[in-house]
Amino acid sequence: MPASLDTFTSRLLRARQATGAAGLDALLITPGSDLRYLLGVTGESHERLTCLVLPAEGDPMLVVPALERPGLAGTPVPELGLEIAEWADGDDPHALTAALVRNFGSPPARVAVADAMPAAHVLALRDALPACEQKLASTVLAQLRMRKDSAEIAALVAAGQAIDRVHARMGEWLRVGRTEAQIGADVAAAIVAEGHTAAAFVIVGSGPHGASPHHDVSDRVVVPGDVVVVDIGGPTPEGYFSDCTRTYSLGEPAEADVATCYAVLQAAQDAAVAAVAPGTTAHRVDAAARDPIAAAGLGERFIHRTGHGIGLEVHEPPYIVAGNDLVLEAGMAFSVEPGIYLPGRWGARIEDIVVVNDSGATRLNHRPRELAVLPSR
Ligand code: ZN
Ligand code: ZN
Ligand code: ZN
Repeated sequence: MPASLDTFTSRLLRARQATGAAGLDALLITPGSDLRYLLGVTGESHERLTCLVLPAEGDPMLVVPALERPGLAGTPVPELGLEIAEWADGDDPHALTAALVRNFGSPPARVAVADAMPAAHVLALRDALPACEQKLASTVLAQLRMRKDSAEIAALVAAGQAIDRVHARMGEWLRVGRTEAQIGADVAAAIVAEGHTAAAFVIVGSGPHGASPHHDVSDRVVVPGDVVVVDIGGPTPEGYFSDCTRTYSLGEPAEADVATCYAVLQAAQDAAVAAVAPGTTAHRVDAAARDPIAAAGLGERFIHRTGHGIGLEVHEPPYIVAGNDLVLEAGMAFSVEPGIYLPGRWGARIEDIVVVNDSGATRLNHRPRELAVLPSR
């Protein structure tokens, strides 16, 4: 379900209030997940500047290249009644944006730019507003985006169901004698067929490649006894991402220590999900995953944080990492994905997305978490 006009109106209002509370004069938001969150406008930033100017005082305006303006017809922008500042090739859109910011009374002292705004625009805006300090928009928007509303959670639930359906079919493609790339191509097609608009990432890490957490695919041929890490996801039509990892083996694992290590990993993942609750911290959830792995003597082999927030980006706040004292609240959504990586031999990871509810966590992925044994021929 696409977010309603009311949703965008209230997000713009809250963002504006937070902008003022943070001592900023305005937010400058180029296309990307922040713009999608605030205005329902999709697309990516490029060399022509599109930029939402959201002042702490006054009405928001959208700077748009003339040739992009017709594309706004199908977005919430016309109905939101946003003022449009159009520019044509040959104009200086950064000067135009600076003039809009200056129009809000006293000269701006501080603006925040979208975290993923291209440097070319950041520097051009700095030149156009030389006395103005630039901050990151996440200082304001992360607080809003971390707390998902019910429509956002529904979209994440649908994404989780879609990616679960892909994992459920893994035996169709993950077979001995095929390359990771061949398997990955089939998986990518299924990600789309099961309800995503694209396959954002497909990791098929077989055998020793499983020890590289962000391995892609390769021409390695899967052989009997391989342990295979499959980490996949993509955006749904609403823009919300799935991200789920399961670990498979082709027959009995060839390496002798898989069963014992995997049992440690599964217990760690369960412990971390059990630790999720409103009022606890991201740090404590990370520790709940890390402590049992370390106790088994494998602490050095768990080489990344326990998880990341998810929503309109695959990776966004909150980060479930040691030292992050962020207090979890109902509505926050993130991955719980401990892994164990044995270089040159094999690796394993279990990843579910969870949403903090009133008393604990709701898992959005439901495929079995045991090592999934597929036929070895
Ligand atoms: Zn990752
Ligand atoms: Zn993942
Ligand atoms: Zn992840």
